[in-house]
Amino acid sequence: MTQMNKPRVAVISGFSGAGKGTLVKELMKKHPYALSVSMTSRAPRSYETHGVDYHFVTDEVFEGLIREDGFLEHAGYNGRYYGTPRAFVEENLAAGRDVILEIEVQGALQIRKIYPDAVLIFVATPTAAELERRLVERGTEDADVITKRLERGIGETESIPFYDYMVINDDLDACADLLHSLIQDRPEGYRPDMEFVNRFTSELADIVRKRKGEKA
Ligand code: 5GP
Repeated sequence: MTQMNKPRVAVISGFSGAGKGTLVKELMKKHPYALSVSMTSRAPRSYETHGVDYHFVTDEVFEGLIREDGFLEHAGYNGRYYGTPRAFVEENLAAGRDVILEIEVQGALQIRKIYPDAVLIFVATPTAAELERRLVERGTEDADVITKRLERGIGETESIPFYDYMVINDDLDACADLLHSLIQDRPEGYRPDMEFVNRFTSELADIVRKRKGEKA
């Protein structure tokens, strides 16, 4: 199936803490997609491996690669650079493999311009409170950074209408199967639900306000 169709790029975005990474790992266990490893200038987390989770580089190295046109897209996130190395994506598409990018919304919209037939999928949690809970439980960021990430999530909801699909990450196994089906078969019925998005956005804004209030 993958070999017969024109290979395509699938972009997976979602709120920080929505579980995109785990979801994409589950998808990769089941299907032989080519997963792009991004480059970033943020510091590695204790459990992350250079070359597997990210290529971790300095700001200077990243800026050098921007000048050499080494990225398909790149964006700033919380004061750090993140980008998709161009060669990996182009080589895998040329070899007939579907490529997965796990990137944020600015990058996703850049990819849409380069590959108009890319599939854009946004991953959300069932509620905003659940998103906060997962970020806190993950324990990789301090309270301030968590607040910043949640705050950024409010802005990210504005881009959800540009996505082809939105999925709610509640059951890992089922959600990974759904991602595969969205990428391969493009079924109807998974367009972003704007009522859900609006409710989620106002819940998230309340949570951020409360977190900022508690700190003051
Ligand atoms: P984190 O620091 O939590 O690993 O990632 C922060 C955000 O950057 C996430 O939304 C993640 O999807 C996004 N991201 C990771 N790699 C890239 C990339 O290559 N390009 C862009 N635009 N965003 C990325």
